[in-house]
Amino acid sequence: MILKGKSAIVTGSTSGIGLAIAKAFAAEGASVTINGFGDAAAIETERAALEATAGATAYYSNADMMDPAAIEAMVKACSDATGGPDIIVNNAGIQHVAPIEDFPPDQYEKIIKLNLSAAWYLTRAVVPIMRAKKWGRILSTASAHSLTASPNKSAYVMAKHGIAGLTKTIALEVATAGITVNCISPGYVWTPLVENQIPDTMKARGLTREQVINDVLLDAQPTKQFVTPEEVAALALYLCRDEARSITGANLSIDGGWTAQ
Ligand code: NAD
Repeated sequence: MILKGKSAIVTGSTSGIGLAIAKAFAAEGASVTINGFGDAAAIETERAALEATAGATAYYSNADMMDPAAIEAMVKACSDATGGPDIIVNNAGIQHVAPIEDFPPDQYEKIIKLNLSAAWYLTRAVVPIMRAKKWGRILSTASAHSLTASPNKSAYVMAKHGIAGLTKTIALEVATAGITVNCISPGYVWTPLVENQIPDTMKARGLTREQVINDVLLDAQPTKQFVTPEEVAALALYLCRDEARSITGANLSIDGGWTAQ
């Protein structure tokens, strides 16, 4: 149980990659705070399962990660309850697919707030706690789109490139404090976020569902396979190990070879 006694906040963890990361941390004994939206009963079932797995209390925060005050309140609740967090994963994210001239400004603002600014606010709130403990792990789920671009995803690509910049900057600021800061850049992972963008991509590019899956999504990945949430979670867990203490400021691809091209 390598995370016994540690406390983690994983944002956007009621579904997809975040939930897989929360499960991987709980399986190693961490007290996990999950966050995100969805059906209250389903979220409570997940929270209870994490608690049973970890043998440590699991918490749920309904903080809207677009709201800086809610982010601070979530950190305070975690700190009051656990003394942590020792680990955070900036993971909550949304997508919108449209050419820039049709891109709704409110969607642009939401993506920048959630996929980028939330990570800045959460990192700002937890660094003092981690400094005091002389140990910390700050992780973000970036994307292959932190390294390369695709058309019709201007806001998302901007936000993810920003996460890579935040990662490098904070890694330098806390380098001597026992805290590492890294981002993980998955290619396409089969989650609701990917499934939900298929209709817009069909519209934007005039393609069928099958054409979007095979000719747009998997076309980018030489392996021709989706990455799984569990593979991303295993990498996140590795970065929390003491052996990973010299990995910092890194942007780690897990993308089936996409960005090698
Ligand atoms: P998902 O849609 O399954 O999960 C998104 C989570 O964010 C959910 O728990 C949702 O409730 C939560 N959320 C949405 N709005 C929120 C808000 N305002 N405040 C708090 N939580 C909110 O998506 P996913 O695919 O698991 O994506 C997770 C992260 O991984 C995102 O940052 C995404 O950009 C990134 N990513 C995904 C892929 C992929 O192919 N799925 C690839 C690379 C990177």
